[in-house]
Amino acid sequence: MPAKNKTTRDFIGIILKKSDVPLNASQIREKFSKKPDLATIYRNLDKMENDGSVGVFTAKGRVRLYYSSEGKGGHFIFCRICDRIEKLQFCLFKELKAQIEKKNQFKVIGHYLFIKGICHECLHVFNSKKNRPYRF
Ligand SMILES: [Zn+2]
Ligand SMILES: [Zn+2]
Repeated sequence: MPAKNKTTRDFIGIILKKSDVPLNASQIREKFSKKPDLATIYRNLDKMENDGSVGVFTAKGRVRLYYSSEGKGGHFIFCRICDRIEKLQFCLFKELKAQIEKKNQFKVIGHYLFIKGICHECLHVFNSKKNRPYRF
């Protein structure tokens, strides 16, 4: 990546906008050609989270995954067994938004979706095992 006049924060914004899936701090760092230390990445992510330019999901209760909240919101499905994340290509939020605005008297300005579950491959493994190792 070209490094002139752009701040670490700018790059984080660009990296997250380009990414199809939410990334954790070290994955973001990996995308830099001249890698800042992880503390710098976290410091910037904190600021961006506070001003709303990035959103964050917590996967498995500890890993923080960041996504760009500019433009279209985040819509993802997350497999809690293999950690695979896929982007959802559709959104059925319109009707929900109308209902919330009407019933809750609440002006909706954005949304994200992070759906946890089991992907088809893990489900296949799960279903083919007699002693089921996963607790859902
Ligand atoms: Zn899976
Ligand atoms: Zn949506």
